[in-house]
Amino acid sequence: MTRKIALVGIGKIARDSHVPALEASPDWELAATVSRSGSVEGVEAHGDFDAFLAARPDIDVVSLCLPPQPRFDYAQKALMAGRHVMLEKPPGQTLAEVHALAALAATRGVTLYASWHSRMAAGVAAAKARLAGRAVQGVRITWKEDVRKWHPGQDWVFEPGGMGVLDPGINALSILTEILPEPVHLTAATLEFPENRHTPIAATLDFTGNVRAEFDWRQEGPQTWDIEIETPQARIALRDGGARLEIDGTGQPLAEAPGEYPALYARMADLVARGDSEVDLAPMVHVADAMTLGRRIAVAPFAF
Ligand code: NAP
Repeated sequence: MTRKIALVGIGKIARDSHVPALEASPDWELAATVSRSGSVEGVEAHGDFDAFLAARPDIDVVSLCLPPQPRFDYAQKALMAGRHVMLEKPPGQTLAEVHALAALAATRGVTLYASWHSRMAAGVAAAKARLAGRAVQGVRITWKEDVRKWHPGQDWVFEPGGMGVLDPGINALSILTEILPEPVHLTAATLEFPENRHTPIAATLDFTGNVRAEFDWRQEGPQTWDIEIETPQARIALRDGGARLEIDGTGQPLAEAPGEYPALYARMADLVARGDSEVDLAPMVHVADAMTLGRRIAVAPFAF
């Protein structure tokens, strides 16, 4: 039995990942889209969210792939209308917004799933199992990618609420907060803001427990998404955004994984079936703390 779902915000990540995952899913039928200009061939398309909610009460699950800035209003309307809601990462612009959504979902008795796609990368569960109960001596995160490749022309990433380089950086933090046996907290940060933009293009974050993260959006050529963890027993590394696991430099065989977005939608199906919600804001707490504690450096203006 498949369940009807609507996808809201048909842009880059909807086309790259959500639509293929839903089309291949045994759990879901992509029954409608809501987007001001985007659509998916062969799927009923709505341009206005209120009109969609009124027209299709039979579609009781919505997945929001909008940028974080407009997401709260859509999520609030959906929850008020009794729909189960899945949120792209980051789940909102601010922590308070997402706390409000979680409370509303609980009141309405519907599911809210704040998804973190990087946690579903193939090596993450194995790394977590490897670290369970172990001492961790230090962590080095290197997350360096080309903003023009991954966010072509998306000015929202440099607008307030867009998080800048902390938008991909939060993917690394979502893995960190999933795999570490003990939580850490931020102690210092340096944020490099292009002088014509409102969010950082590069950042260095220091945490307790000898954990350090370097994020940079100016890396052309090969992209780097590495997390290296030092323990007394072994050096553990997650590479390619968590897709590969190395122990002492040797690649480890991993269990067959469905892919990040198929795994997210399987999780959403499970949450809805069980009547549960999942809202873990730990990655976003670190981003908010970096914005609170961060030392600001002005760097060269940025244009796409
Ligand atoms: P995007 O393509 O810029 O935006 C997605 C769609 O949202 C747009 O096509 C637009 O559709 C709609 N939208 C944009 N601004 C809006 C507004 N102010 N009000 C209402 N609708 C608006 O962004 P994206 O790259 O897909 O990213 C969306 C989310 O997915 C972000 O939170 C991002 O962090 C996350 N994500 C992105 C990637 C990636 O590789 N880009 C990867 C993983 C996760 P219409 O114009 O048709 O309404």
